[in-house]
Amino acid sequence: MADVVVVGSGPNGLAAAVILARAGLAVEVHEAQDTIGGGSRTAEVTLPGFRHDTCAGAHPMALASPFFRAFDLAAHGVDLLTPEASYAHPLDGGAAGIAWHDLERTVADLGRDGPMWRSLFAPLVRDWQQVVDLAMSDMRHVPLLSPTTIRFGLRTLEQGSPLWNARFGDEIAPALLTGVATHAITQPRALPAAGAGLMLATLAHAGGWVIPRGGSQAIIDAMVTDLELLGGKVITGHRVDSLDEFRDARAVVLDTAPAELLRIAGQRLPDRYRRTLGRFRYGSAACKVDFALSGPVPWQHPDCARAGTLHLIGTRAEAMAAERAVAAGRHSDRPYVLAIQPGVVDPSRAPEGKHTFYTYAHVPHGSDRDVSDTVIAQIERFAPGFRDLVLATSVRTATELSTYNANYIGGDISAGAMTLRQTAFRPAPRWNPYATPLPGVYLCSSSTPPGPGVHGMSGLHAANHVLRRRFGVYTDPLELLAATNR
Ligand SMILES: Cc1cc2nc3c(=O)[nH]c(=O)nc-3n(C[C@H](O)[C@H](O)[C@H](O)COP(=O)(O)OP(=O)(O)OC[C@H]3O[C@@H](n4cnc5c(N)ncnc54)[C@H](O)[C@@H]3O)c2cc1C
Repeated sequence: MADVVVVGSGPNGLAAAVILARAGLAVEVHEAQDTIGGGSRTAEVTLPGFRHDTCAGAHPMALASPFFRAFDLAAHGVDLLTPEASYAHPLDGGAAGIAWHDLERTVADLGRDGPMWRSLFAPLVRDWQQVVDLAMSDMRHVPLLSPTTIRFGLRTLEQGSPLWNARFGDEIAPALLTGVATHAITQPRALPAAGAGLMLATLAHAGGWVIPRGGSQAIIDAMVTDLELLGGKVITGHRVDSLDEFRDARAVVLDTAPAELLRIAGQRLPDRYRRTLGRFRYGSAACKVDFALSGPVPWQHPDCARAGTLHLIGTRAEAMAAERAVAAGRHSDRPYVLAIQPGVVDPSRAPEGKHTFYTYAHVPHGSDRDVSDTVIAQIERFAPGFRDLVLATSVRTATELSTYNANYIGGDISAGAMTLRQTAFRPAPRWNPYATPLPGVYLCSSSTPPGPGVHGMSGLHAANHVLRRRFGVYTDPLELLAATNR
């Protein structure tokens, strides 16, 4: 019989499972889908031999988060490959901003805005662990203030306000930064987007935006192997419908969206908490479009071919307009498209000479539109001739994403809109966002702080509470991981 049941095998569910199993508990993971990994899976969705990341594709946080630093993916056989350029941002007319892994190379390329880029990022890159520890905290026990965390806070205020252009003179550097902030699928000139953008842009020049050899599935497989060696079990193809299924477990940890908690906990939850969860807002969505290509993408700017990730949107103003449109429920003609070309570091993703190309476009919540033509047009804008390389395409609309993973309500891949309120209070304004009013029932998904991304930190924070409250174990989970690493 399991001491703890984890519902959902995403990176947060597995992070919680690994920590609890390392503490000596019997852990069972139940996953609705037939394959494990939630938002970190890899599959042949176009043609045989082409391995595509079906959700997450670039992993700055899987390298840098406190959970993964302690777990140590490399020691578990995961080869995290570092592209020479973390991300690129092409503009019309063949120009582009390139965020090289090397900060000084980036500064040199940015011309008169280069020194500004250096002043923005050099202090944060130097102490990147402090930046990450703050951004990935539970938003309750934030690390002590230091010159670096104060700088990070001030820069977030600046980039999330109308002052955001004040330090820049040209168009490229602000566009480059906006491309990262827009990962949050919300207005880029807002505090949550600015904070997430600055943290990710810092990591671009620290550990880099790494790509796992073989695909994002490698991260999940390493965690499951660890769990199974500790006696843990993973049961796939079982969508949990009721908490009653686990009456004997001492704790149930849900790697699910609040909507799924409402569905499976039914009338057991107190009215007030139910109403609060019912008010939790899900945000704009993504339509995923994957391509099998006969060759590398013919970028107008040659250095774009060296970047792992690309942000295809154009200027800062265009990003604002596109995000405003999707937030208002309209499909943009020129949407924000995030692209990843794993082939720059990992030839194993496709047959020799061929490539996989990963994209998703921001679309309105609940969209069922196939936007692959718009995505191709946006790529052609910066890489004329792309269309001729396409061997096959796989599309997952926002509505289909929500079927693929019950956490992505309406195709919201953040499992909850990244508003200011919902950044701190995910999913409810409580001191402990991981505990529910039901004894022994916890939430650990990206609908809890610190929010979306493959970082395992929601799982870690939830597991910490489970250990303390249900099992009287007060060891810090990071120390537990370090002490039990084989
Ligand atoms: C298209 C896309 C691109 C992304 N790109 C990146 C990226 O490049 N880098 C990055 O760091 N992050 C990225 N993300 C975000 C990242 O994938 C998620 O934030 C992360 O996977 C969240 O982890 P999680 O464990 O909270 O939930 P998930 O990974 O979503 O896993 C939840 C799991 O719970 C299961 N589940 C839900 N309800 C039940 C139930 N009732 N019974 C049983 N099982 C259930 C689901 O099937 C799923 O497997 C992307 C996400 C998407 C969708």
